[in-house]
Amino acid sequence: MPLTLGKWFAPSKSVCPICGRDAARTAGSGVIPVRHPQPRQALASLCGLCLRAIPWIAYPVCLVCGRAESCEDCVRRKIRSYTISRCAVRYTEMMKDWLALYKYRGNEGVETVLAAILAFAYERLCEAANSEFHAVTSVPLAPERLRERGFNQAERLAIRLAEWYGLSYRPMLHRLRHTEKQSLKSRLGRVVDMRGNFAADHSALFPGNILLLDDVYTTGSTLDECARVLKQAAEANESLRVYGLLWARS
Ligand SMILES: [Zn+2]
Ligand SMILES: [Zn+2]
Repeated sequence: MPLTLGKWFAPSKSVCPICGRDAARTAGSGVIPVRHPQPRQALASLCGLCLRAIPWIAYPVCLVCGRAESCEDCVRRKIRSYTISRCAVRYTEMMKDWLALYKYRGNEGVETVLAAILAFAYERLCEAANSEFHAVTSVPLAPERLRERGFNQAERLAIRLAEWYGLSYRPMLHRLRHTEKQSLKSRLGRVVDMRGNFAADHSALFPGNILLLDDVYTTGSTLDECARVLKQAAEANESLRVYGLLWARS
């Protein structure tokens, strides 16, 4: 398309999907550390201020869970059901706001940006795991929470990622009972209470590397319990491995 025609059809102002600023005025002023063209395009829709504010975890210090700092939880946990996990960003106040913006409004533009941020962790995980993934699944929400919100953010992000990278998305887990908000519990309480929260759908399982997706990694007990339940359900099938993929690491 000739330049003049392109200009004619292009919107006069591109609005940043996060903050609503005129993105064109500050565009091109941030690095986009993702290779796949679709998430790259989504990140390019951000204004420069938002793009530069993303606290990417480019060099994890804990090579198990992908945290940017050294990690007591992984040292303490002697038995682990997931292989490794990677997290896209540090869970800063700003990232809390971005996730809340999405969780409570379900805005599609924000969803695309958050999925594109997650793509960064996916590409890092592929390098770290040095193998391919055969299916993607997500940590289910409690039924009460799902009714309140109307959607499971981890599932929606997982579906977006699966579409971009040509993976198959499969629901494999159910949440069995409602627990109090995690933040109200002590660290030890959380670890104990995760047991019995999830069940795996046997018919959805198959051998290979499964990518398990959740929005925020706090202690890792949700991720680990889900991985344990998946592996237990696979029983004799020792070739099932679970890798964690998280949007943010607190
Ligand atoms: Zn912005
Ligand atoms: Zn760790």
